[in-house]
Amino acid sequence: MTPDGALPPGSTIGVLGGGQLGRMIALAAAPLGLRTHIYAHHADEPAAQVAAAVTTGEWTDEAALARFADAVDVVTYEFENVPAATAAFLAARKPVRPGPLALEKTQDRLVEKDFLNALGIPTAPYAAVENAGALARHIGQIGRPSILKTRRFGYDGKGQFLLREGSDVGAAFRALGGAPCILEGFVPFEREISVIGARGLDGAFAAFDVCENEHENHILAVTRAPARMAPETAARAFDICHRILDALDYVGVIAVEMFLVAETGADGARREKVVVNEIAPRVHNSGHWTIEGAETSQFQQHVRAICGWPLGAPKIRGAVEMRNLIGDQADRWREIAAEPGAHLHLYGKAEARPGRKMGHVTRVFLPSTR
Ligand code: AMP
Repeated sequence: MTPDGALPPGSTIGVLGGGQLGRMIALAAAPLGLRTHIYAHHADEPAAQVAAAVTTGEWTDEAALARFADAVDVVTYEFENVPAATAAFLAARKPVRPGPLALEKTQDRLVEKDFLNALGIPTAPYAAVENAGALARHIGQIGRPSILKTRRFGYDGKGQFLLREGSDVGAAFRALGGAPCILEGFVPFEREISVIGARGLDGAFAAFDVCENEHENHILAVTRAPARMAPETAARAFDICHRILDALDYVGVIAVEMFLVAETGADGARREKVVVNEIAPRVHNSGHWTIEGAETSQFQQHVRAICGWPLGAPKIRGAVEMRNLIGDQADRWREIAAEPGAHLHLYGKAEARPGRKMGHVTRVFLPSTR
């Protein structure tokens, strides 16, 4: 380590998780002369294919975790459901960045919403639901439509039930397996947006342009940047991200997913507000556009932050569009590879199951060509 706490080139970043996010972290670390060591369940996962070293093990395998910790200089993760005990075990041995507090506040939707509301950051109205009786009571207050979500382990719309007029409340609770849930009021959003921000070891803040996200079947399909919104609204979105990062004493890249709500007042003026949906304490699919679309990619930004390096410039290069290649959409690789200006990324996954993120393609429309 250098006197200012930076990890010099030649250092090794340990990444918990072997998916495409870890793969793109490893690919971004290499040009800076940094190595990556992946902790994954299998030796052939996407990240393991491009890293200097791999340790395989379960999250509870303390012997494997100790070997991994001995071999790395800093630990990060590409997956927010790292068990708290695993994070604590590693944090006792090596710096874990972002720290365990970020995991604690974002693994449970109720804890996350309480955290945001304590900071005065707007969210959907919500209530904790422990049983079907409580659900019926809270629907009375929050109204319909509303969404019942499991508090933990939900992603890509899994673990969610939309309650419309007439939906059977008991069936909703049973559909989610009786797990502890949260009921959220439905936010009548115009667009879904996200802010990918970063905080350095020295507390410096940088954020990429706000981007807008389109989902298909609950899975991110397209991200476009910059988002169409008033500059003042974008400034508020950045401020929210900044406050979250400071409150978590965060080091690394974060994604804050938000709803953009627009209303036209009686005077005919358009008013926009942002409501936070959820936080991902890691690099994020809606930030993949930054690889070619910004001066620094979210992956390199994350590497810079967790290694105590200066943050890079987040400046956008033009209008950018990123499309995920889901399932058999990746079969079009030859056609995309032949398209000038299309930046193809494939994640090295052997099997293209429906709904599986196999790769993405980014197109940057430079200001001079539009
Ligand atoms: P989540 O897993 O919480 O990100 O939810 C998945 C998707 O469901 C979001 O991207 C939204 O499209 C939709 N959604 C979730 N929560 C709400 C809400 N409170 N109001 C409106 N739409 C929501």
